[in-house]
Amino acid sequence: AATDTGQDTRDALEVLRRVFGYDSFRDGQREIVDHVVDGGDALVLMPTGGGKSLCYQIPSLVRDGVGVVVSPLIALMQDQVDALTALGVRAGFLNSTQEPEERERVEEAFVDGRIDVLYLAPERLRLESTVRLLDRGTISLFAIDEAHCVAQWGHDFRPDYLLLSHLHERWPEVPRIALTATATEATRAEIVSRLDLGGARQFVASFDRPNIQYRIVPKNDPKRQLLRLLRAEHAGEAGIVYCLSRASVERTAEFLVANDIPAVPYHAGLDGRTRAANQARFLREDGLVVVATIAFGMGIDKPDVRFVAHLDLPKSVEGYYQETGRAGRDGLPSTAWLAYGLPDVVQQRRLIDGSEGDDQHRARLVAHLDAMLALCETVECRRVRLLAYFGQRGEPCGNCDTCLTPPETWDGTVAAQKLLSTVSRLHRERRQRFGAGQVIDILLGRKTAKVIQHDHDTLSVFGIGTELSEAEWRAVARQLLAQGLLAVQGEHGVLGLTEASGAVLRREREVPLRRDAVRSSEGGSTRTA
Ligand code: ADP
Ligand code: ZN
Repeated sequence: AATDTGQDTRDALEVLRRVFGYDSFRDGQREIVDHVVDGGDALVLMPTGGGKSLCYQIPSLVRDGVGVVVSPLIALMQDQVDALTALGVRAGFLNSTQEPEERERVEEAFVDGRIDVLYLAPERLRLESTVRLLDRGTISLFAIDEAHCVAQWGHDFRPDYLLLSHLHERWPEVPRIALTATATEATRAEIVSRLDLGGARQFVASFDRPNIQYRIVPKNDPKRQLLRLLRAEHAGEAGIVYCLSRASVERTAEFLVANDIPAVPYHAGLDGRTRAANQARFLREDGLVVVATIAFGMGIDKPDVRFVAHLDLPKSVEGYYQETGRAGRDGLPSTAWLAYGLPDVVQQRRLIDGSEGDDQHRARLVAHLDAMLALCETVECRRVRLLAYFGQRGEPCGNCDTCLTPPETWDGTVAAQKLLSTVSRLHRERRQRFGAGQVIDILLGRKTAKVIQHDHDTLSVFGIGTELSEAEWRAVARQLLAQGLLAVQGEHGVLGLTEASGAVLRREREVPLRRDAVRSSEGGSTRTA
């Protein structure tokens, strides 16, 4: 076996050079390739841009038979096949977007062994005909791309991925390689159990992306903040701007264009042709900004994306990490910039409350959101927190906003008590429930129409918070929400207390808060200072 391995390794290196035109394997790739060429099962965790594709493409070429690659990225299959074809690799794909004649052509090529790599959409596995087809050919390996899609714990579950366990039952001798760029301990464990990969060797690359500068700033006027960032640091450069809703995607793209920044929208509400055209422009042109919902980006391989900006809070650290990971694949300095504010927290909590599914599902969503909020509010190095989330250790990086401009903390205990007392006071008015705006108006002693209407200017808490500005009170409320000391109840962003609030009100607990960088609202890169 030892000599065989030596032989395979040479073959693999030869294929890397001759077919793909690269001189050497990257860290980790060689071990993975050798292991799979030898017929072993593998679970590969590697960040976006790390070079996962070669880990199954080269074994597909070295081993006898056809490598079957299951991928949810149906829209990209044509591109992936074209890219391989351009290198002289015989490849094809099967998915539901295809003409029947085209499908038959690929099926015949597979059965006759006239292709080396076959991309397969997971929903094809629902068809008995697919299983019969696979039986008629010779399979060199199964590659399961975006393997986290099998995990319900993860943020991107696809039910069809559960069908993948059948592959192993039916073809137990065929080696499998599962790959993902996003896997916490919990997700990894679920991948292993659902795909029966207990015997697989795990290859875990470092998740650090040192060239990405992480910055998370308080949101006040997000479009203008974004514009300032782009003008100051990324003029003429390509980037991705993520927004939660289609409407804000459209508005933001129009705003950028009106301010002379070339930008196109991308979301699932656009017709397929426009989407494809905008994506093609982004890949082809220099310096185009794509404003998108998270529908955009999976599998997009554009090396020189210089920034990824989030105008809304991502739902999970996994999603955030995956989206920001699209920046700087070429290794050059890039920015991951996120603006988030109190309304984000309120909105996300409401979305979770109103979401379908059982309590367990909701608890999962809450846990994901809380981890994201903790990353936003941390006073530690963002990178250390990010890596810790993926079970890896890091040192303070010197290349994130909290390292560059260490945030001040202040003792927010009294402020928290004032805010929570006001919430508690309003709660006794059973008929009417109030959101953060009313609470802050009361703290500031503002006699607004709504304050007068409800006689809130007669409350003992009226005007007790004039030592802070409105923006500061919003920061307090946001951080109390993030720390679980304040809750959002019901549909209209009504604030309420939590079990933990009591300890603060009883003065049993201190509340350290992070002071928002108010003036340098873009999170002040000191690079150009
Ligand atoms: P992932 O799927 O992990 O996001 P890809 O497989 O798309 O990453 O690879 C990212 C980029 O790195 C691609 O442009 C790929 O061609 C390049 N790449 C991968 N392996 C190597 C290597 N050994 N040498 C040079 N470039 C590589
Ligand atoms: Zn840092």
